[in-house]
Parts: sequence; C-alpha cells; structure tokens
Amino acid sequence: MGGFFYACLLYKCSRGYIYPMNESLLEKAFSTKDFERLGKEVLAEISGHLQRTTQETQTKTLVWNPPENELDFWEKFLEDGNQTDFFKEILNRTTHTHHPKYVGHQVGVTAPITVLTGMLSNLLNNGMAVYEMGMSPNAIERIVIEKLGKKFGYGADAGGFLTSGGTLANLTALLSARKAKVAHDVWNEGHTKPLGIMVCEEAHYCVDRAAKIMGLGEQGIVKIPANTNFAMDTNQLETFYEESVSKGIQIFAIVGSAPSTATGAYDNLKTIAQFAQKHKLWFHVDGAHGGAAIYSKKYGFLLDGAQEADSIVIDGHKMMLMPTITTALLFKERKHSEHTFSQKADYLLDDTTEDEWYNSGRRTFECTKTMMCLHWFALLKFYGEKLFDNYVSRQYDLAKDFAQTIKENPNFELATEPMSNILCFRYLKPGLNNGELNSLNASIRQTLLEDGEFYLVQTKLRGSLYLRTTLMNPFTTVKHLNLLLVKIEATAIAC
Ligand SMILES: *Cc1c(COP(=O)(O)O)cnc(C)c1O
Repeated sequence: MGGFFYACLLYKCSRGYIYPMNESLLEKAFSTKDFERLGKEVLAEISGHLQRTTQETQTKTLVWNPPENELDFWEKFLEDGNQTDFFKEILNRTTHTHHPKYVGHQVGVTAPITVLTGMLSNLLNNGMAVYEMGMSPNAIERIVIEKLGKKFGYGADAGGFLTSGGTLANLTALLSARKAKVAHDVWNEGHTKPLGIMVCEEAHYCVDRAAKIMGLGEQGIVKIPANTNFAMDTNQLETFYEESVSKGIQIFAIVGSAPSTATGAYDNLKTIAQFAQKHKLWFHVDGAHGGAAIYSKKYGFLLDGAQEADSIVIDGHKMMLMPTITTALLFKERKHSEHTFSQKADYLLDDTTEDEWYNSGRRTFECTKTMMCLHWFALLKFYGEKLFDNYVSRQYDLAKDFAQTIKENPNFELATEPMSNILCFRYLKPGLNNGELNSLNASIRQTLLEDGEFYLVQTKLRGSLYLRTTLMNPFTTVKHLNLLLVKIEATAIAC
C-alpha cells in the first residue's frame, strides 16, 4: 500500500500528473468558473419559476405526462438532450407545489431561503454523525431541538435530534419505546414473548410498517377503531388492551396521530396520555403533519396532552415550509434517545452515561444525514417562530372556510369537519348509488389530473371515495377553492 502510494508520488513528481484523462475531467467538474456561470443561470431560472407559479402566470400546477412517455423522454434526453435545457426541463416536468392551485399531497411549500441552505448542505456534505464532521450543524441542531422541546412544554431532561423523515422517526421512537419499556433484552436476544403497540386504524401506514420491521407481527399491532370523525375512539382503549393482555401480548407503546393522514383528524392526546400513564406504556405522538400546530396561537390546543408524550415526531417538510427531508424527533427524557441503539440492555445503563449530544450518530438511525438543521435555523433566524404561527393558522383557517363553502353547495358532501388543513369531500349526483359515486369521483379526479390546472388527490373512507385536498400553499385563497368547485361541477357533467 505504502509502496504503491510512494510510486505514484514519484510518478506525479516526474510527470506532473498521475491520470491525465481523468484529471482534466475532474478539473472540469470542479471548475469554479463553470459553477458560477451555471449557478447564476439556474438561480435565475428558479426565481422565474417561483414568480410564474406563485403569481399564476404559469396556468397549470402540473403538465401531465403518462409514465412511459416520461421515461422515454429522459432516456432520449440522456442520449442527445441539450445540457442547457436540463434544469428548465426538470422545472417544467414536475408538480408545482408553489402554485396556489396545488392542493394535493401534504408536502411542504418550501420557503425560498431553504433553497440556499440546501445548497450549502449539499456543498459541505458534513454528515454530522461525529462532531468533527459537522461542528456548526451539531450545535445548531441542538438549539433547534431545545427550542422545539420547550415549545411543547418539555423540561430540562428533554432532548432529541433531526432525522431523515417521519417514517424513520416513528420507527426510531418505537425502538426507543421497546428498549425503555420491555425488561427483556430484545436488542441482543431477539423476541422471546409477544409484544405489541396500540394505534388508531386511521394512523399513517408507516406505523404499521415500523411495527412489522420490529417483528411484532400482525397481532402486535392493535388497531383501535376510529370514531365518526376518523379520530381514535378512545372509549375502546381498555377493551382492546385487555383483550391483547389476555392473549399474552405485552403492550409497550401507544401512538397518537396529530393528525391522521387521510382526513387530518387529531386524536385526543390528553385521554391517550392518561391511558398510557395508567398502564405504564410509552406514549408516542406522530405529529409528522400537524405537530407544527404547537406554534399556532389559535390551533395549539389541538396538541393538548402532547407534553405528556415520551416522544414526538414533527416533519419540517410538511407544515413548516422546509424541504424534504427535515424531521424532528423529540424525547421527554433524552437518556432514552441515548439508549435506543446501545448494545447494552436498558437496565444495565445508568443515567450518568456521558451525554455526548454533539455526536449525533450515536442516537440516529442513519449514519450520514444532511445538514437539515440549517433550514430550521435559517427560518427561525430570518423570520422567527411567528412565521410558523401565521402559516399554520392561516392554512387551518382556510380549510374551515372551504368546508363552509362545500356545505353550502348541494352538489358536494363533506367527509367530516376538518380539524387541520386536510379536507375530504365528494361530488354528489342524485340517483347514483355509492359504487357509482365512487366511479364518478374517481374519473373526476383523473380528468383533473390530466388537465393539470389544479392538483388534488383522492382517498377511500369506509368504502366511499373522496376527493382529498391538503391546503399547503400559503397563496391559496377561498377564491381558488371556489374555482376548483366550479371546475369539478363542469368536469362531472362531462364525465
Ligand atoms: C407524512 C406522515 C408520515 C410519514 O412521514 P415522512 O416524512 O413522509 O416519512 C407519518 N405520519 C404522519 C401522520 C404523516 O402525516
């Protein structure tokens, strides 16, 4: 090894270079001149895109293209497309979350400044797992987490970290829960007796997936039915708990949704907290979508009870204007986050183990992660927490106004009163049975997708298909939503 290196060095000294072909290509790839020129062009392109979408001079939220055609386009593009068109084509051939007529999935409409923090993170590539590979970001992340914990009412023992997505954060929290609540050392010895968690049937599918990954099996996911508002029916908690215990399953955790995904209904976190306390369960709050309501003066009450939770997940890339992926996982007691992936059994660990907050890789599922804390910190520094208050309150208010409009229109039916900015409704037509209404609404949604002016999605609730909107865009107004209803009415006649 050393000999080879020395030989190369000698070769380099005598010839001035080692691998002539590659080196010139590498020089080109790292040319700061090229970077600056292209960077200026792309930034102008991005600003133009922001202007065209937010101000609607671009009329569509997406230009629909069937998957096979899209694949074909990019295969050809790689062969003989123009390099200079690359960024433009990406902008054209994607869904424009910044367009006020974007009312589809619950992904964040990114604040432009986070485009810049993303650039920094990509350039520096400090993976953060150890302090030296992310000095500033490790310090910044701790500040972001501490502020968020305080917001939720957590005390001095709280902690947490940022991680790659709500899905991974929920899994991590449940792993912490198992470590903390199950006396047996599952981490080293595997399962020796059946374990289980409780969660509402309306929870995000990733909770189910996490439980399956943990080897709990179908019987280990105790699904509590939803009430008429699609939130957990907490009246049934005791019955389901006793039934599992009588089958020999040790329930160690319960998950509350804040809110659930399909309808955006918040579970009653206070009641769940009491239940968890009574049975000594880990209480986890999946606030991936609506944990951000903690910032809202008007809607913060929806999270009452979350301060009792052992862990809470909040996605920055949903209701906090940040890019994918930026997720916070909070722990009421940070020692649990230290123990999650530790080789030692929980009962062997004492609370005095050194608190190495600055080596984030000890506690996160991932080894390398992006410097996602930069987005969070930049928004706090440039605009303050008030930005999140204004945004969440505005979007939740808008859903209530939209619900009112729908209720006043006999052609439409609301699935349930919205508790957040997620709202499901369907088009009605006299004389059609449920199956026919499902087909009609499905073809309305497909027609709208291919038309591309609006972007919305659909969901099935108790056998009925509903059109589903998530009001993510801070430029969407009731006026846009009225236009959507008019468009749906016109579409329905043609369907
Ligand atoms: C979006 C969402 C998730 C999944 O989070 P990702 O960041 O997409 O992995 C989990 N739970 C709820 C309630 C969600 O809304």
